[in-house]
Amino acid sequence: MAKRDYYEVLGVSKNATDDEIKKAYRTLAKKYHPDVCKEPDAEEKFKEVQEAYDVLSDPQKREQYNQFGHDGPNMNGGFGGFDFGGGFGGFDDILSSIFGGGRSRGASQQNQRGRSLKTSITLTFEEAAFGVDKEISVTKYDTCKDCSGTGAMSSKDIEVCPRCHGTGRVVVEQNSIFGRVCAENVCPDCNGRGKRIKNKCTTCKGEGRVRNLSKINIRIPSGIEDGQTLTVAGKGEAGLNGGLAGDLYVEVHVKPHEIFERDGLNLFMEMPITFSQAALGDNVEVPTLDGKCILKVPAGTQTGTKFKFSGKGISSSRTGSTGNLYVIVNVVTPTKLSLEQKELFEKLSKTNEKSESFFDKIKKFFKK
Ligand SMILES: [Zn+2]
Ligand SMILES: [Zn+2]
Repeated sequence: MAKRDYYEVLGVSKNATDDEIKKAYRTLAKKYHPDVCKEPDAEEKFKEVQEAYDVLSDPQKREQYNQFGHDGPNMNGGFGGFDFGGGFGGFDDILSSIFGGGRSRGASQQNQRGRSLKTSITLTFEEAAFGVDKEISVTKYDTCKDCSGTGAMSSKDIEVCPRCHGTGRVVVEQNSIFGRVCAENVCPDCNGRGKRIKNKCTTCKGEGRVRNLSKINIRIPSGIEDGQTLTVAGKGEAGLNGGLAGDLYVEVHVKPHEIFERDGLNLFMEMPITFSQAALGDNVEVPTLDGKCILKVPAGTQTGTKFKFSGKGISSSRTGSTGNLYVIVNVVTPTKLSLEQKELFEKLSKTNEKSESFFDKIKKFFKK
């Protein structure tokens, strides 16, 4: 059976407006719906009407059809073809269209969120420990200041979309396995914006945003660690059509310190002391991140002994907790002895049998 001309099926002229096509389709779809119409060929006719409407209601398909007729590319729709594969989407989409909530398909350009961006920053050890305010530069899309993101030359250039009356959605009647349903689709005229712009803003060419080098101030919380990422909400790229801006992710790198090593909030340092300090004990000044402390080295301290200074580590403003400072003592073996010192050590070694082997080791070490 030769296919009928789509305009003929809907009973409209080749110059019919979208509204005329829609009106004709509604009338015919109601008339031939298999639930209503008991004529034997009702279903065939209903399918024919659906197919004609599917093509003629889509500006691109209609154009193609006007040019190539039924033999044109992408004109192989047929009922089964377009019902589930075409304008309506898959089975899940049909369910969500019926039961609500399914608005993701064919996502409109309404409220499109801006992209999130990633950048990095390098901090000194102290900046990471104490927190700091930093300014970072990022090239990104920002809301166009000339049109405040509307994309229009002036507020008079924004008009409500006549097709969807500003809602951005159009209701389309579709046949599905559940019978005829009303599905809400993105308005094809305004792409879901609900608005039309007569004269576009020249700065952003109607996009509502422009690419800029932006300077962004960020607060680095104290206690941040190397490799952590800060999220700066809303400082990514501007959204489209009033959509939220994306976020900015800042990966933090921390430079090493000359003296301190860090593990979480705890600090570690190696403190050299002389042999006599270790043997006799002493009060030794040790550096901390914010000044100094006195380390009481007890007499007879061995190399590698670890001393703890509670609360002298790094404070995290996020968790409120503070780490400790651990001082690991390193007894420095003298490498150059004066004659007097040599005599004293030799005397000492004779008085202390236990230590003999230790000094033998030192002597061997010196000979190497
Ligand atoms: Zn603009
Ligand atoms: Zn619209």
